[in-house]
Amino acid sequence: MKPLQTDKAQEKAQDRAQLLARLASVEEFDLVVIGGGATGLGTAVDASVRGLKVLLVEAHDFAKGTSSRSTKLIHGGVRYLAQGHLPLVWEALHERKNLLRNAPHVSQAMPFIMPAYRRRDQWFYGLGLKLYDLLAGRARLGATRLLSRAQTLLAAPGARITHLVGGVQYWDGQFDDARLALALARTAAAHGAIVLNHMPVTGLMTLPATGKVCGVACLDQETGIEYTVKARCVVNATGVWVDDIEAMTHSQGADTVLAHVPQAVRPSQGVHLVVDASVWPGDSALLVPHTEDGRVLFAVPWQGKVLLGTTDTPKSTVEWEPQALATEVDQILAEAAKYLVKPPARSDVTSVWAGLRPLAGDQTSGAQGSPGTTKNVSREHTIKVAPSGLITVTGGKWTTYRAMAADVMQSIRQAQLLSLTAEDVTVDLPLWGAKAPDPTEPYSAYSIYGTDGAEVKGLPGADQWLTPTLSEAMVRFAARNEYARTVEDVLARRSRLLFLDAREAARVAPAVASILSSEIQTDPQLAAFLALAQTYQLAG
Ligand SMILES: Cc1cc2nc3c(=O)[nH]c(=O)nc-3n(C[C@H](O)[C@H](O)[C@H](O)COP(=O)(O)OP(=O)(O)OC[C@H]3O[C@@H](n4cnc5c(N)ncnc54)[C@H](O)[C@@H]3O)c2cc1C
Repeated sequence: MKPLQTDKAQEKAQDRAQLLARLASVEEFDLVVIGGGATGLGTAVDASVRGLKVLLVEAHDFAKGTSSRSTKLIHGGVRYLAQGHLPLVWEALHERKNLLRNAPHVSQAMPFIMPAYRRRDQWFYGLGLKLYDLLAGRARLGATRLLSRAQTLLAAPGARITHLVGGVQYWDGQFDDARLALALARTAAAHGAIVLNHMPVTGLMTLPATGKVCGVACLDQETGIEYTVKARCVVNATGVWVDDIEAMTHSQGADTVLAHVPQAVRPSQGVHLVVDASVWPGDSALLVPHTEDGRVLFAVPWQGKVLLGTTDTPKSTVEWEPQALATEVDQILAEAAKYLVKPPARSDVTSVWAGLRPLAGDQTSGAQGSPGTTKNVSREHTIKVAPSGLITVTGGKWTTYRAMAADVMQSIRQAQLLSLTAEDVTVDLPLWGAKAPDPTEPYSAYSIYGTDGAEVKGLPGADQWLTPTLSEAMVRFAARNEYARTVEDVLARRSRLLFLDAREAARVAPAVASILSSEIQTDPQLAAFLALAQTYQLAG
């Protein structure tokens, strides 16, 4: 693997005061990216690798939105295969391979088992998954194979036994979404970008004569100071919030379409339940390709627990912390119970959370479902260039973030907003911390830091464990090197404890607050975190 080419001095400048001073000193940025999720961060990486002067501003924390709430699969999408979206599946399968290669410290290949209760299902899905392998070509992770009943039970000891006839095993990838977002933020920073969290954009600046967007106004949440920033080009990558930013331009006239069809976002909620590992033991994930209401159900081992999900519920409102509906929780528990030896009980649930898919909103494009459903809406992305020059990107999925970012840069080139080459600059770019697993090194809680592991272990408190996966040194590292400003930043996204075990996260929160306070002079917002952690616990 090629080493990441970085400017160490710039990368180290994560001190917020220094970042704000740098921000104030730049007369004009080439590119300002609004939104620090998968899409915005990927765009900031691509642009900074090209040598552009880049600023990325995120309203809350990196991956606070949808990008920390995914099923954490790097996949082509078995459902999209079944729906016949072959180009989408092909692209995602190739991006799967790129991601596993470029960020091996936060991702890995994983076997999936589809238990079959009818012989024809085994053949049908077995053939479909062979096509998945064919589409992947050299990007294949492992061969799909049909399993006997005994082999299925060996690989998936948690699968329901009654009427089981066999199964299918295939391969996809798994990752830590919020930590990948952080790796992207640090990669962009290493290439000279300024990345700032807790910095919402509050307005767009336009040239009075032409109405062209020429910058943004953003607010430092900690000091209340507003900054106005000039930019040659502005990208709106705010996921389900894109319409709010677009509304700031008050642009007139028809938009120019450069990729796919322009449309407003159509949010769809997906809920996950995290349960004890005993519910689905082993290292393989479970795929149920067709639940009773036509969805896909996964049970995925993740950091010592199991994720169950998800749902697909159309939403008309957009919240920072979307809440799981009781019906969604019941749906997941009931569906899982049909396929598991040990039906999950409410008492097995250690965390529950919801995310909003920023699906392309045009009801006529790719949406063959009945009105009011989103499960058939296309997961493809759209890029729109407004008459004001504002670029808005939405849709897509985590797996294809890199390809989306490359498309955004090409749209900027085609619209002649910046002078760029057509070259793909990130396909072989290792992300921050990239380190292939070393079979001679035992896996530890520090492995996720990749090349930073030794540095984290060298900090005070490396042997002081607040909980088995979080040490005092990790909290210090989060504050010093990973832009963490609040208890929530640490416990939801640097560590994933809130998403794994909300009660345990609340228990260690006061200790995290105290370590954070000793590192940075801001309010770590402990009370707000404790209130939030309540909402991740399943009542009753
Ligand atoms: C339930 C669920 C499961 C999924 N599972 C998978 C999966 O397994 N694999 C996969 O590949 N994909 C998956 N996806 C899709 C994937 O998670 C999303 O496509 C992706 O995270 C979207 O990223 P984004 O950057 O577009 O949006 P977001 O992550 O929401 O980022 C937008 C950011 O903009 C910020 N923002 C908003 N307003 C402002 C403002 N005024 N100023 C500055 N910043 C602002 C927000 O705070 C947010 O952080 C899943 C999605 C869901 C909902």
